[in-house]
Amino acid sequence: MFSLDTIIRENIKGLQPYSSARDEYVSDGSTMVFLDANENPYNNGVNRYPDPQQRSLKTVLAEQRGIASENILLGNGSDEVLDLLFRAFCEPNVDAIISLPPTYGMYKVLCNINAIENKEVLLTKEFQPDVEAILNTITETTKILFICSPNNPTGNTISKSKISELLTNFKGLVVIDEAYIDFSEDESWVRELANYPNLIITQTLSKAYGMAGIRLGICIASKEIIAVLNKIKPPYNVNELTQKKALERVIDKKSVATEVQNILKERDALIRALQDIFYVKEIYATNANFVLVKVDDATKIYNQLLEKGIVVRNRTTQALCENTLRFTIGTTQENNALIKALKELV
Ligand SMILES: *Cc1c(COP(=O)(O)O)cnc(C)c1O
Repeated sequence: MFSLDTIIRENIKGLQPYSSARDEYVSDGSTMVFLDANENPYNNGVNRYPDPQQRSLKTVLAEQRGIASENILLGNGSDEVLDLLFRAFCEPNVDAIISLPPTYGMYKVLCNINAIENKEVLLTKEFQPDVEAILNTITETTKILFICSPNNPTGNTISKSKISELLTNFKGLVVIDEAYIDFSEDESWVRELANYPNLIITQTLSKAYGMAGIRLGICIASKEIIAVLNKIKPPYNVNELTQKKALERVIDKKSVATEVQNILKERDALIRALQDIFYVKEIYATNANFVLVKVDDATKIYNQLLEKGIVVRNRTTQALCENTLRFTIGTTQENNALIKALKELV
């Protein structure tokens, strides 16, 4: 059985969160004179502290996902959300997490920053989790399992039944990083929230929503887990400009959907063009806005593309990714420039 009490760090359990001015008095809509936070009174749009609980934005995000605002924590990018998870649940120099390479690099970076052991269990050749190996790796001090789906850099979705098996058999937290979910036809794990008390989902406005510059990450979990994270987050971690821009964008679902559709069309066109290039050895199936490609010599091609003014991601040093390059899907023009450059290489 999962018990949040045994997962949470001892010092966090008894912690009282810092109570900011804007936490202590919440306006009910009537016009008040605010002389509580030492702000400059002259209005310029951002002279006041932002809402520490981002209520307007959370209301829309919660409604779109069919959950409650209390199931959501917002952060300065999903990178902040992931860091909060480490700090809430992983005791430095004692605890461990499990990550499944090849995958997103931040899990390992956060282990190093927070002095947490990173137990790596490689994905299979099909880029799926090796459930038995993962379950055998778990010990008393294993607090979190990170699963990225669709996975970066491979692009594939992780099998639903394998994730279910892990959620059921692991008494720690299972974080499903859904940074690329909006490009995928697969359903989000948000729908399963009520079925698994140890499930945490992270999403972001950085990819499909086209807002990498504002830094907005979304954490979705049980109200109990979110309450723990709320205790330790910096009070004003999501700034006013970000809250405003994010709200405008998430309300405009149509524009986001149109851009996603265009990106998916472009992705198909790029994949077709890649099939004609003789040194492309494999094009991996993708459910994201990028495609991983195996070539004869990734580092050589990476450098040749750089000389032509095109920057791609060389993944050759990652486990199971020898001689691979990751291409992000750009505009028609950008993708054509990539194809043209690739065809010129001999
Ligand atoms: C890009 C990406 C993110 C996004 O992080 P932000 O801090 O929200 O920009 C998260 N997870 C994965 C797997 C990613 O590839």
